[in-house]
Amino acid sequence: MVKIIRVPIETPTLWPHTTTNSYLIGNNEESLLVDAGYDKEVTRKVLEQMLQKYGLAIPKAILLTHSHPDHAPGVRQLIGWSPIVYCHSHEKDAIESAISPVNQIELLRDGDQLTIAGMKLQVIHGPGHTKGQLNLYIPSKQILLAGDNIVAEGTTWIGPPEGNMREYLHTLQRLKQLPLSKIGPGHGDWVEQPYEHIDFVIKRRLLRENQIQKLLREHKKLTASNLTKLIYKDTIHPSIFDVAQRTIEAHLIKLIEEDKVTKQCSEYFIVD
Ligand SMILES: [Zn+2]
Repeated sequence: MVKIIRVPIETPTLWPHTTTNSYLIGNNEESLLVDAGYDKEVTRKVLEQMLQKYGLAIPKAILLTHSHPDHAPGVRQLIGWSPIVYCHSHEKDAIESAISPVNQIELLRDGDQLTIAGMKLQVIHGPGHTKGQLNLYIPSKQILLAGDNIVAEGTTWIGPPEGNMREYLHTLQRLKQLPLSKIGPGHGDWVEQPYEHIDFVIKRRLLRENQIQKLLREHKKLTASNLTKLIYKDTIHPSIFDVAQRTIEAHLIKLIEEDKVTKQCSEYFIVD
């Protein structure tokens, strides 16, 4: 019997998350780790406890959904496993430096299949949060491990240059087409209502986009910083203002690509 275990590991990650999920897939003969958390001793300790608890073989392969510091560098703690690391070509350089000295990297592409403990796993390239974000779909269980494309609480952070809002929304539309029983997010608990959750995220993004267009129409021209102030008012902590502004910029880039907004110097205008 193949097990799929969500392993939340403590990480100092972006608010409101306090843990990053790793996933163990396999049985006592073969297993795969998806994402490896921070480069902290706790990563290895928690993972090895789980392998023992569930009677799983030590993973010989680690799939990294993307290169971010709360997902990739934990590989360094797992050198003793002598793992092969799977990732997408767009993440390769960043992952190489995040996990060095581990250097056994194999690239995966959209549509690739892996077989772990006799179970087929389908690789989906879903850019948006980062350019080379990988998702792993398990058809026999209708489970999607979505990396940071989906987080259990709220919405994923999308910011330039590596984040792309247009690609992100396209990815969500694509993931929605899969038969899904639940989603394993990058942060937080299993998402047991996958379609409602994806729709919630899409709706949130489109509402924000409409709000930006409305504000640009009212004020004629605005900088990204002014837009961020108008949208978030005093609802966010000053320490995450920059992160919020980059989300707004990601929306603006999408609107420019769609010829709905133009930019002159640092000011944005609506196109009528
Ligand atoms: Zn991330």
